[in-house]
Amino acid sequence: MSNYLIKRASAFGNLSGNYKKPSVCPHCGFGTDAPVAKKDTYSFNGHYLLIATCTCTSCGKTFFFACEYDSGKTDYEPIIYPSIAFKPYSNDVLRKISPRFIDMYNQALQSEFHKNIELAAVGYRSALEILVKDYAINELGQNQEEVSSKKLCAAIGTYLKQEDLMKTADVVRILGNDYTHYERKYPQHDFELLKGYMDIFLKQIEVQYMVNHPPVSRTP
Ligand SMILES: [Zn+2]
Repeated sequence: MSNYLIKRASAFGNLSGNYKKPSVCPHCGFGTDAPVAKKDTYSFNGHYLLIATCTCTSCGKTFFFACEYDSGKTDYEPIIYPSIAFKPYSNDVLRKISPRFIDMYNQALQSEFHKNIELAAVGYRSALEILVKDYAINELGQNQEEVSSKKLCAAIGTYLKQEDLMKTADVVRILGNDYTHYERKYPQHDFELLKGYMDIFLKQIEVQYMVNHPPVSRTP
């Protein structure tokens, strides 16, 4: 998840130790160890500034970074141009089921983008609750009041009939709940795991929707 790679400073000349190189393309968000196109160093007051342009291996666009170098320590974070901007998530299928989910999920993504991991985890859990409940109401035609009054755990058990849907949602629910507790029970199950299962769950719901709404079907 880190936005940087630790690389040898010797790539910039006779320098020992390491520096931090951006590992995410600011144009397309692809994780990359982008080949350096041009590089240079500037020295000032015994410090160096390592500067380079890199070409993304995914989108082919060029970005620039500059990183202060001090005896090969990696205390300094590089600046990058263009700056990495948050790209909102969109999904036309899931939006049909729950526009509110898309909004909440983007809030969680933004928290993660700003490295507010605990807030993001709680946000993903809330987004899951919104999606499960809107899926029950809008897709399965369940009674709105009944669905709203259910706790997330009960809603998952009642409305997500398929075993794999239920299991995936439960992982996000349990790990997300853990982040809301003062004392965490599953610290070993980290944020990446929660996110991974969230991704699987979104795909599963998307598949369900597409199966239930085929664009064409055989004529009798
Ligand atoms: Zn790129």
